[in-house]
Amino acid sequence: MARPRVRSGGGLAALAYTLRKGREAGGVISLYRRLRSNNACKTCALGMGGQSGGMVNEAGHFPEVCKKSIQAQAGDMARTISERFFARTPIAEMAAASAAEFERLGRLAFPVIAEEGDTHFRRISWDEALQRTVEALRDASPDQTFFYASGRSSNEAAYLLQLIARAYGTNNVHNCSYYCHAASGVALGKVYGSGTSSVVLDDLDRADLALVIGANPASNHPRLITKLINLRRRGGRVMVINPLRELGLEKFRVPSDWRSMLLGSKISDLYLQPHVGGDVALLKGILKALAEIDAVDTSFVSACTEGWEEVEKDLSASQWPELEAASGVTRAEMADAARMLASAERGISMWAMGLTHHVHGVDNVLALANLSLARGWLGNAGAGLLPIRGHSNVQGVGSCGVSPKLKAAFAEKMEEAYGFRMPTGEGQDTYSSMTAAHEGAIRACILLGGNLFASNPDRLWASNALRRIGMSCSITTKLNEGHVHGRGRTAVILPALARDEEAQATTQESMFNFVRLSDGGTPAVRGEMRSEVDIISSIAEGVLPSRVFDWSSLRSHSKLREEISKVVPGYAALGSIEDGGEFQIDGRTFHEPRFSTDHGRAVFHVTPLPDFDPAEGEFRLMTLRSEGQFNTVVYEEEDLYRGNSRRDVVMMSEEDARSLGVGEGDRVVVESETGSMVAVAAIAQIRPGSIAMYYPEANAIVPRRLDERSKTPAFKSICVKVRPLAETAQSVA
Ligand code: SF4
Repeated sequence: MARPRVRSGGGLAALAYTLRKGREAGGVISLYRRLRSNNACKTCALGMGGQSGGMVNEAGHFPEVCKKSIQAQAGDMARTISERFFARTPIAEMAAASAAEFERLGRLAFPVIAEEGDTHFRRISWDEALQRTVEALRDASPDQTFFYASGRSSNEAAYLLQLIARAYGTNNVHNCSYYCHAASGVALGKVYGSGTSSVVLDDLDRADLALVIGANPASNHPRLITKLINLRRRGGRVMVINPLRELGLEKFRVPSDWRSMLLGSKISDLYLQPHVGGDVALLKGILKALAEIDAVDTSFVSACTEGWEEVEKDLSASQWPELEAASGVTRAEMADAARMLASAERGISMWAMGLTHHVHGVDNVLALANLSLARGWLGNAGAGLLPIRGHSNVQGVGSCGVSPKLKAAFAEKMEEAYGFRMPTGEGQDTYSSMTAAHEGAIRACILLGGNLFASNPDRLWASNALRRIGMSCSITTKLNEGHVHGRGRTAVILPALARDEEAQATTQESMFNFVRLSDGGTPAVRGEMRSEVDIISSIAEGVLPSRVFDWSSLRSHSKLREEISKVVPGYAALGSIEDGGEFQIDGRTFHEPRFSTDHGRAVFHVTPLPDFDPAEGEFRLMTLRSEGQFNTVVYEEEDLYRGNSRRDVVMMSEEDARSLGVGEGDRVVVESETGSMVAVAAIAQIRPGSIAMYYPEANAIVPRRLDERSKTPAFKSICVKVRPLAETAQSVA
């Protein structure tokens, strides 16, 4: 079995890592200074920094920092890619580089281009780079283009990108959340009429139960673990639901907490391991068990909700053997979970891709919400629903309009403010833009940060799709696989300043709907990097007639904030954030049982068991992230908490390995309907019948199947066959 070299999450290993990263970044002091600057943390959306100072959370607590934040900051300070590298390194050679190797190249310091037939990227001047991008947009018609943003960009850049796209004439505008929490947005909209968290950070200090499902915050949102430890210290309990036993969700040592550091902190009180794809059945089983012990909060249900009767009927019709088989969890375990929920007063349920990355992702979130409603855990302090968001401003990018469909009020205000008619087309979401590209219908695209290529299912298809685009313009701080495998026939890549290098302040929205102001700072490396807003404004000036609007005025971030405050729902306070201070967005936090649905009540939903049942001999694959990565960015090949030193592994149970006749380190072939990969067996404490591989590499065998309601591809619940390589006549990769 893969043995992690650590016995808990965090701990001395985290401190040693920080020192190593500090040295790589040019010194621990300079790393510390940048982390302490008044800028929002660049990594996850839990939210640190801003005007309360770096390493400080919304509650004003210091120090709040983690390995993820340090990885991102150190990575921005390390080095720049030289012109010699591009001259000496053929694109074909770059194509063989791993995600981690791209990350280690360092910052992009000048614009580069690769035209059709070029064997190398070459340096290009800003003027020529912008001119080429403007020409491509001019030569195309708006419906032959799309505009994509990752969740690391600022509100100002996001707002400007969507404004320019619409003034240009297209609604083909979308962001990375389509491939992560779109299912949460759809489901929560159905439950309480708003697509984001119903709680704020403080609520985690009032809850006496946390249900963590389909997530591994120990690796991806480490400061959340401190909240779970404090909850347990207050006498509360933590329930974890995950097919894979995660070390950091069992024991963690918080470096800034001497007791935790010395003794280690227990995290989970109950750890349930369902089948991959067994969540709906499990959550229905727990709800059925709750009803059987009369632990449904009937007064809340009758006064503040709708739809319980239909759910109750469905539960009565659901037989225990069916729920046990579909979930992989026993009735007794479900009863234990129900008793734990029943013994708590205020519970917060939190989740991530483990729920949303399925064809039935929306139903997973609805089934979880049903549990909270049944306990009356919505619309009061210390209780609610918390989607654990990824990138530090993924919510802000969505709030500021980077989506194909704008709310009516938002669109009307845009027309009033800028004097042009909003495009009427339906607009493409991320997957439909990829499909259009694959059909050769996209002539130009603007990619603001991110790695659209690697975040797609079916890597070969994704590469073919993006390679068919006439011109791709990528705006980024560093290179990644997408700039090679996902580049247009002509590809321009423009170097951007990082958040703490911006000359003007920017703003970001956390997963708790709190908007921060980041001061910016000076570049950590030498180069020709420019701010995202500056780059987008330059493109706008070249493409859009100045008679419609003086686009250059939008180079001013405070001017952009004024615009946003006039147009974006809930953002009225943004215009005065520099004086009035950071703020909580109105109307998104529910501490009273009155919700944003038409009738003001929360809504239960019947969630049918998914039609997902692998055939005899097939396994249920889930792709996941490691402790050494954040989304598609891989900082370290080693996955410290799972004991894997390489990324081409397939984690399986001892029992399944035995049935396959393989052991730790043996090479196997994992095959799906989309393709197959050679991987190395890694024995893990995972539910038998379920296996796990790393995202984004394993996307090579992830089929293009979506949750039609969220348009999110299913990176989990994939039927695959596994067999020892030795058995296979020829290895397939
Ligand atoms: S938990 Fe998230 S927001 Fe907080 S320091 Fe870590 S990466 Fe940054």
